[in-house]
Amino acid sequence: MKPQPKLNLLYSRQQIAETVDRLAAELNRDYPGKHPVLIGVLKGSFMFLADLIRLLDFTLEVDFVRLSSYGAGQKSSGKIRVVADLQRSVKDRDVLVVEDIVDTGLTTGFLLAHLRKQKPSSLKLCTLTEKPSRRKTPVAIDYLGFTVPDKFIVGYGLDWDERFRNLPGIYVLEE
Ligand code: 5GP
Repeated sequence: MKPQPKLNLLYSRQQIAETVDRLAAELNRDYPGKHPVLIGVLKGSFMFLADLIRLLDFTLEVDFVRLSSYGAGQKSSGKIRVVADLQRSVKDRDVLVVEDIVDTGLTTGFLLAHLRKQKPSSLKLCTLTEKPSRRKTPVAIDYLGFTVPDKFIVGYGLDWDERFRNLPGIYVLEE
């Protein structure tokens, strides 16, 4: 068994719910009459996506991609590949990517470029969290939940070596 690391609460379940409500209100303002495809980036965004779409009142579809960066550990190596791609093409569709975190931006930047090749009619990004201090490539965020400090966070879908995704709050993992 791995030792239990120390976790410090950053955002409570209640604070996350309020932020998801706010993001849903922004999307409900911007997408009426459209029929977008929301793309969840596995695995980290599954909980956020599930909570978010329950609050959306326009017609939508959900698809998923799974990406991987070569190498392990807490730092992205920067070499990204698509492990599981979309089921359907997003050509001529309104596309909203739903992310858990934009850190260096390399993963999201890669995904946006990958999707842009399919010529969607619009392509927007909604992310629950971002760490602007660590950005290596510019990524335009259209809908943002929290700006987080340069710390490793877990919970609400975000893992540490596959653990802690189930926590209802977001915590800083103290090393
Ligand atoms: P990027 O550096 O390419 O923006 O992010 C790559 C991936 O690293 C994210 O999709 C996420 O899976 C992971 N990541 C980056 N920062 C954190 C963090 O603070 N906590 C967790 N759990 N994952 C992170």
